[in-house]
Amino acid sequence: MRILVTGGAGFIGSHIVDAYIAAGHTVSVVDNLYHGFRRNLNPKAQFFKVDIRQLAVVRRVLQQTRPDIINHHAAISEVVQSMRQPLRTMNVNVIGTTNLLTAAGAATDTGSNWRLKKIIFASTGGTIYGNAEKIPTPETAPLRPESMYALSKQLGEELIQYYARAHKFAYTIFRYGNVFGRRQDPHGEAGVIAIFAQRLHQYQVVTLFGDGSKTRDYIYIPDVVQANRLALRHGHNLICNIGLGRQIRDDAVYHAVRHHFPAAQPPRYKAVRAGEVIHGAIKPTIAKQQLGWQAHWTLRSGIADYVKAMHYV
Ligand code: NAD
Repeated sequence: MRILVTGGAGFIGSHIVDAYIAAGHTVSVVDNLYHGFRRNLNPKAQFFKVDIRQLAVVRRVLQQTRPDIINHHAAISEVVQSMRQPLRTMNVNVIGTTNLLTAAGAATDTGSNWRLKKIIFASTGGTIYGNAEKIPTPETAPLRPESMYALSKQLGEELIQYYARAHKFAYTIFRYGNVFGRRQDPHGEAGVIAIFAQRLHQYQVVTLFGDGSKTRDYIYIPDVVQANRLALRHGHNLICNIGLGRQIRDDAVYHAVRHHFPAAQPPRYKAVRAGEVIHGAIKPTIAKQQLGWQAHWTLRSGIADYVKAMHYV
């Protein structure tokens, strides 16, 4: 297949690119390197340093690459930043997504001999349900975004579904829990495991926002990649939670990482930041039943693998 991965120089997107190339697909990458890195780029992928906010350029890339599948991972993915700079988040996550869909949709309408078959979209299970009544939360629960980031992803999901109906291509929407793994930026605001591990490795103190009792659902990158592999052929027109289905406390995550760094100092605590969800976990029922997906890594086995891969231990 010809596959275009947006955000393919970023953390999750670059792993997906590697897996698609290893499976023999022809892959191109669109990324403006805002938060992605050249070192993450697979040399076998054709790279376009392009900003998805620029419709004309996106259109040219699609005409040139004519993908069967678009895997859309480019986004501003930080909650706190979305509260400080809402327009930036909206421009990339909503307008950028609209550009991509408009360019793909227009091509199918103009009778060109290229037709997009499917779009795979990275949404958020960690924030889209807000502080949900039912935890672990099923895909059918009401959406209650409490940050501009979560709202931008809700709008992204609706755009995907609208364009898919209008232009007759399929979609799979993934609502991920907190993804962790190699290539996650330890200097960002998100990605607690990358941040904790790097700080503990450098004998620095770790900050927990809240009293350590906030909960999140986690998922290790190989399990996310597997979902994206399966979605190439299965799971059409579905929205799937991708997580362990368990609420894991911030302090439990801290201790699971700290286990590998016995000399660590105790953490410090700060107030919870605006837009943050307090409790959450997502139930990956649809991915299990319809996609044949299941998580193979636990939090502990994933962290153990991660710190080894990073040569921290
Ligand atoms: P990331 O920041 O590493 O990757 C995002 C990529 O998008 C970066 O390479 C960045 O340069 C690129 N990008 C940003 N703005 C762009 C623009 N205007 N044009 C082109 N490229 C642009 O983040 P990630 O953690 O790999 O997240 C990937 C996707 O998964 C995002 O859509 C994110 O919202 C979603 N997601 C991530 C998590 C998580 O825990 N990491 C959880 C849920 C959803």
